[in-house]
Amino acid sequence: MATIAKIVLATGNAHKVEEMTSLLQSLSDKFQIVGADAVGGMPEVEENADNFEGNALIKAQALHSITTGQMWVLADDSGLEVDVLAGAPGIYSARFAGSGSSDKDNLDKLLKVLEKIPDGKRSARFVCALSLMEPGGKSYQFRGECHGRILMEAQGNSGFGYDPVFCPDGYSQSIAVLGVSVKEQISHRARAIAALRAFLGDQ
Ligand code: IMP
Repeated sequence: MATIAKIVLATGNAHKVEEMTSLLQSLSDKFQIVGADAVGGMPEVEENADNFEGNALIKAQALHSITTGQMWVLADDSGLEVDVLAGAPGIYSARFAGSGSSDKDNLDKLLKVLEKIPDGKRSARFVCALSLMEPGGKSYQFRGECHGRILMEAQGNSGFGYDPVFCPDGYSQSIAVLGVSVKEQISHRARAIAALRAFLGDQ
């Protein structure tokens, strides 16, 4: 039987671990997915790059530095870019309403900032950058985007972050209403992971 390699996820966000584990299910004969807790927890890092790819790489390098043996590392950085806000909140999505802000604080701030912006001018996209690092330290980048618009008010309870206010192109409800099965097909993370899966499938 072929050896199963481990991929350690560089995140402490339980929602992301859940989504990524599910999205990488088809590779379970080759790779076992574990959270950073399995290697002692995600080291503290300063995400000080000016783009998603740079921050994903910072996280991957930090986790790689504490792994041993034949472990691969996978880090992601993601966020929401709103066109009328010149791409904000972007890399600051998790702390749009200030450091320590909750998902609800951030979402409320976004709705407030966009209060006077009409429906036709609320285009936005979720972006996900993945940084995969081989046991030897060589890194690979993958990117996925999900385009849509920001709704006038929050709808639904599924998912996390800005899901209740984001309506993907081709739909008329928020991702939080559409639910996990739709999100797994069209999300920025699903698209980045599809590219990653194609790469890992060839390993
Ligand atoms: P990260 O943990 O640095 O990647 O920050 C990501 C932030 O972007 C999260 O805290 C959310 O606010 C937002 N975000 C990323 N992906 C999603 C998603 O799938 N749904 C809703 N919000 C998301």
